[in-house]
Amino acid sequence: MFAIAEKYEQIKIALSEILQALDKLSKLSEIEVNGLKYRLEFFVGSDLKFLAILYGINGANSHRPCIWCYCHKTKFAKYELIWSITKTKHGARTLSKARIFSKRNGKLSKTTTSIKKSRDKLSLRQKTSIKKKSELEKNSGNKFGHKNEPLIDFVDFPNVVVDLLHLLIRVTGRLMELLINDLIVIDKNDSQDLEKRPAFKEFVNFLENTLKFSNPTYNETLKGGKKIIKFRSFNGNERLAMVKEFNLNLNNIDSINEEKIKKIKFIWNSFYELFQAVSYYHIQPNFALTSFDGNKLFFPKQQIGTKLRLWLKFFLTVYQSKSVTPYMHIFSIHVAEMLLLHNDISSFNGQGIEALNKKVLRSYHCSTNKHVKNKSWLKQTLDNRSRKEFFFLNGWEKELDNNYASYTIDELDFGYQEFNCELVDIDNNQLQEVIKRIDTEENLINMPTII
Ligand SMILES: [Zn+2]
Repeated sequence: MFAIAEKYEQIKIALSEILQALDKLSKLSEIEVNGLKYRLEFFVGSDLKFLAILYGINGANSHRPCIWCYCHKTKFAKYELIWSITKTKHGARTLSKARIFSKRNGKLSKTTTSIKKSRDKLSLRQKTSIKKKSELEKNSGNKFGHKNEPLIDFVDFPNVVVDLLHLLIRVTGRLMELLINDLIVIDKNDSQDLEKRPAFKEFVNFLENTLKFSNPTYNETLKGGKKIIKFRSFNGNERLAMVKEFNLNLNNIDSINEEKIKKIKFIWNSFYELFQAVSYYHIQPNFALTSFDGNKLFFPKQQIGTKLRLWLKFFLTVYQSKSVTPYMHIFSIHVAEMLLLHNDISSFNGQGIEALNKKVLRSYHCSTNKHVKNKSWLKQTLDNRSRKEFFFLNGWEKELDNNYASYTIDELDFGYQEFNCELVDIDNNQLQEVIKRIDTEENLINMPTII
């Protein structure tokens, strides 16, 4: 937990100790726990923003924002191209290249520029030979998106796994944004008055009445005084329900827009089905897709890569190439290879961490000492979390339904007495020490370390 901005230099300082410790650990071939030997393999999972910082890659708006490959963003829509996360001949990034490219100055060398300029005058054979020489390392100045040296040295790109929660949020976010624009075009109106916007109103009805979302919209006044309708942020489950159930029955629209809405419904619904197929790939022999005409079709799970690419192909029958985002590229091009490599990628899902983050934030905002300079709120928040974990580890799930921050020390004493531990003059600040002591008790020998 760090009170810093998500920027390379600051993350570098904040993570230095953790990364050094992990680096040491990564040099061990195996570790022994309770007499059993375990081989260690390291993986990294997070949202794209953090991964980009960790690996020193440019952000989402840059030319090559993909963490795994060198694909230029103008090629994201080329669903037929092969981009790999493991094979360098198919543009896979590697840590060794990342280190080399990040040290470059970012300017193309004179030779490369002149090769590029004279390329048109050459024969195909000459062009191919020049291309081979000039590509990647030989292309002396190009950084290929590697802005800084990677902060992490022991997990190469194939073991970096996309976070499915963020993928869901970002892809559905873009789908919604595009739909809202389509509805403005259909209604020929973007005012605050819903009565003048029947198509948009139908979408709000879908959220409110079909999906039973509470207050999906709110009004916002822009700087110039213009009032607009905005959507609140939706959580992962709400977004899943949205793409699963998406259906709009619009009256009085022309046949072109009617066809477009049908296609959009297919894009949304098939995204749901493919997302489920990806999430449960490791536990199912095949997956189901509903075809455009409504038939349920079953496919062996090995065909998921083709179906994911076809989803992007279909998306482009409605939307322009520039609408394809990095997360859509990853979903349709890289996820299948990740599944082949790791079988189960939903285990890397950051949903638990996000939920924890939400609770920590709530604890912070509820604390009365949050503006005190000595950061006592930080300790308080960690204490609160430890208390909650203590309850959980001892099987008192019922207690977790309540606000864990509100427990008094007396209530906690009861917990320790259950395990025949001595408690003398304990207060919140000593809680950690007590938990460590309990950890060594015979009946709790397997209890994981708190914090
Ligand atoms: Zn890529």
